Amino acid sequence: GTVDMDCDVVVIGGGPGGYSAAFRAADLGLKVILVERYATLGGVCLNVGCIPSKALLHVAAVMDEVKHLEVAGVKFAAPEVNIDQLRGHKEKVIGKLTGGLGQMAKMRKVTVVRGYGNFVSANHLEVEETTGEGQEKTGSKKIVQFKNAIIAAGSQAVHLPFMPKDPRVVDSTGALDLKEVPKRMLILGGGIIGLEMGTVYSTLGARLDVVEMMDGLMQGADRDLVKIWQKMNAPRFDNIMVNTKTVGAEATPEGIKVSFAPAKDGITVPEPQTYDLVLQAVGRTPNGKKISAEKAGVAVTDRGFIDVDIQMRTNVPNIFAIGDIVGQPMLAHKAVHEAHVAAEVIAGELQGNKELAAAAFNARVIPSVAYTDPEVAWVGLTEDQAKAQGIKVKKGLFPWAASGRAIANGRDEGVTKLLFDDSPEAHGHGRILGGGMVGTHAGDMIGEVALAIEMGADTVDIGKTIHPHPTLGESIGMAAEVAHGSCTDVP
Ligand code: FAD
Repeated sequence: GTVDMDCDVVVIGGGPGGYSAAFRAADLGLKVILVERYATLGGVCLNVGCIPSKALLHVAAVMDEVKHLEVAGVKFAAPEVNIDQLRGHKEKVIGKLTGGLGQMAKMRKVTVVRGYGNFVSANHLEVEETTGEGQEKTGSKKIVQFKNAIIAAGSQAVHLPFMPKDPRVVDSTGALDLKEVPKRMLILGGGIIGLEMGTVYSTLGARLDVVEMMDGLMQGADRDLVKIWQKMNAPRFDNIMVNTKTVGAEATPEGIKVSFAPAKDGITVPEPQTYDLVLQAVGRTPNGKKISAEKAGVAVTDRGFIDVDIQMRTNVPNIFAIGDIVGQPMLAHKAVHEAHVAAEVIAGELQGNKELAAAAFNARVIPSVAYTDPEVAWVGLTEDQAKAQGIKVKKGLFPWAASGRAIANGRDEGVTKLLFDDSPEAHGHGRILGGGMVGTHAGDMIGEVALAIEMGADTVDIGKTIHPHPTLGESIGMAAEVAHGSCTDVP
């Protein structure tokens, strides 16, 4: 057919991966077309993920924090929540950010084409134009010819096949809609997304149950950190069901009736329970099978992921992939980092710039954060992984009960933990391999630990770095001193 538009790079998907790739490629002088089916840029993260969840979590955190002032003789009246206004506030936050992205695309002369992209060859993409709030098709199609493509089509929530289609069954997107606050809510899947949304709803008044197939909540984080989180959060829950499967659900006038079965021998599970709201948060599935990748010759795995090398290149040399669609961890900061690599490699090759063309994804670690109350954050090797892999580590554990700032804040339940290489080759001066924290603002502090790992810091580097007093960040220096065996006093 005829070609309607042409470019150096077409980017499929306008999420954190896609817009970051498009902007970097444009900054490097390339002609870029960004294809997004929805009305706004920002993808899952800005529209129905990271940002709206944090807008709501901030409100919940403030509502919860004031309760900690009762010990200081300050008591607030019960909060009055106008849920429509709260939803409006969240929408405004999203609008500010996605509007800003639109402006930035214009400033960089990135052409945004609204529509659904499907490959027709390794140099052509067909865009079926969409309109309105969602992705209603206009019937009009455009052919985009490209030298290079970056696939950033993201992922979507997994839905269990036996869940009834019912407004009382939602995924994270439905939960963020915040239509009303249920009395009883079931969180299906005890991962970060489910527990964050559960935190919001419980602070607004819902009673929570959670069901998780594995042997504990927040898989990936060290169990000792999660234990502290769980102790602080126990009052939100009627029932925390681990090693338990959800095996059926039925819509009844009273609510969604859900039945459970043991996921492991020796586990007893409750009778079927009825809930006003069921949140499915059992993982996300990549959109790899929805872009006709085969027409371009791009290999897609059975599960819908696209494999790439460290330059983010697929099996087809001029087609790259980034973000959730290339694999775990499905996190925005990983997508952005990968986006810059792909854009730089392409720019380098088109311009014969060897330095840019040699760009590669070589991050040593990617931090994870649960923005719950308290927060749980971790990066690099965890203590559980070290144990499982037989890696000898020296541990520095600093309980916040010894932190002046945490005590002054009335929030001294936290812990900071650092792990250092203690193999014989390290000669007692091992580098930091990982770290984790539970406590208020843990997510804001974990970046320092990531930096320390990237820089190859050891106990002395971190322990002798003067941290401001009194801050929660001091706990990182103190944990290093503990590991070094030189922690003699407490701040
Ligand atoms: P996406 O953000 O999924 O964007 C893909 C885009 O591609 C979408 O806009 C989609 O409409 C578009 N698209 C797909 N197919 C086509 C097509 N064929 N044609 C045109 N357009 C197409 N991560 C964090 O790091 N921190 C957090 O706090 C965090 N919180 C989260 C909370 C929730 C509730 C959820 C669901 C996720 C959260 N995440 C968080 C994960 C984060 O949102 C994702 O990792 C991130 O959005 C992935 O970016 P991406 O660019 O790969 O894809």
